[in-house]
Amino acid sequence: MYIDGQWLTEGPNFEVVNPATGAKLGSVLDASTDQVQAAITAAEGALPGWSGATAYDRATILYRAHTLMMERQRSLAELMTAEQGKPLKAAMNEVKYAADFLLWFAEEAKRIYGETIPSARPDQRFLVHKQAVGVVAAITPWNYPISMLTRKLGPALAAGCTAVLKPAESTPLCAIAVFEILDDAGLPPGVANLVTVSDPRPVGDLFCTHPAIRKLTFTGSTAVGRHLAQLAAPQLKRVSMELGGHAPFIVFDDADPVHAAKGVSLVKFLNTGQACISPNRIFVQRAILEPFLKTLEARVARLRAGDGTDPATSIGPLINEAAVAKVDLQVQDAIAKGATLHTGGYRLVDGGLERGCFYAATLLSAVSPDMLIYREETFGPVAAVIPFDEEDDVVAMANDTEYGLAAYIYTQNLSRALRTFEQLNFGIIGINDINPTSAAAPFGGMKASGLGREGAREGIDEYLETKLGGLSI
Ligand code: ADP
Repeated sequence: MYIDGQWLTEGPNFEVVNPATGAKLGSVLDASTDQVQAAITAAEGALPGWSGATAYDRATILYRAHTLMMERQRSLAELMTAEQGKPLKAAMNEVKYAADFLLWFAEEAKRIYGETIPSARPDQRFLVHKQAVGVVAAITPWNYPISMLTRKLGPALAAGCTAVLKPAESTPLCAIAVFEILDDAGLPPGVANLVTVSDPRPVGDLFCTHPAIRKLTFTGSTAVGRHLAQLAAPQLKRVSMELGGHAPFIVFDDADPVHAAKGVSLVKFLNTGQACISPNRIFVQRAILEPFLKTLEARVARLRAGDGTDPATSIGPLINEAAVAKVDLQVQDAIAKGATLHTGGYRLVDGGLERGCFYAATLLSAVSPDMLIYREETFGPVAAVIPFDEEDDVVAMANDTEYGLAAYIYTQNLSRALRTFEQLNFGIIGINDINPTSAAAPFGGMKASGLGREGAREGIDEYLETKLGGLSI
């Protein structure tokens, strides 16, 4: 753990395992409530100095952190593959994406502009000033174990906030590696603190109730996000919530079915389907259903599951046993209710894969609204295809979910693309594009997918208060 600029190494600890092999990777400290309290106190103590530093000084440290992260890209990616399971190439991409947030917010730090506003009174002036929210508590997930940290710490530190971060219990080693970078970049003691725990609940409670914490930023499941938002409400703490999704992927009959199927095969199986923007319902207009399924089936059947260190691996393991059980339950439920299974549909247990949490890349069609997979987030390597006939129907079906994070539209008709873009209630929409994400673009959801945006110009606003000065002259 890293508290007030010091590395702690002694004390009770818990194990971290490789999800591809079940092998123990290491142990990390299991923080006591007193230690979490000490981390909050350290962040509180460092706040005046850090928020009072110039934006140029804060940016200099973030630039250095960006450089160090890119210098360590390979070793960070190898650690991520071992701890989280994703193929090395995907891990390399994630480290680059993570570093992008440090660079973007180093730049944005210098663009925290205020305003002057004309008054109706000739003897009055209005000044609008932006200042850091204060101490921030951050809780991050395991699926993107480095980029989810920099997407929060980058803007928080750029804005002048100090922070305490609790990473997911399955991926604390990646978090430690990020904090080594911040330490090496010269971040002053107490500005960012890391606490690792095996049971997140007491820390979550403390973060939500501690008076020194002014803001909670959380990425994880909707159930936990709701719980934390409720706990934080009596204190009127600010919250940013990046929660679950159930992305529709709509393929209209004027799109090239082969191109669209390739897109699905790439985005659906990224990170073994363990992404909040992963397509969960693939709606295909009936006229092109057959060629679409033919291409998708061939591509899904070719995907090779394995250890992410093997260059031949295209999909890694799921994070744990519970994830395998959830995915299999949704697949078996769909088959029992009449879905067609094209390929996959079982846990992989041969050739050494039995030691890890591997599930075969799976394609289901004829999926219908009565199936679990139509409503629940899968977070696994299962493509679920649903036929549709009319544009109006598919928009209504796509919006028929409590979630509102990502959606995808494939069409060659510009009017239809814009119409559908406007009608879909989702925060991120890819139009003939499977990767609508960037440090420069606002990421976040509507409805039960969350509150607030990360990245982009908006990303730093989440960590700023607006202060008005009214002056009589
Ligand atoms: P997932 O189902 O993707 O693991 P979670 O919402 O359970 O998503 O986990 C995301 C993050 O939230 C992790 O850091 C986890 O430790 C944390 N977390 C889970 N439950 C709680 C809780 N009750 N209080 C605080 N943090 C929690």
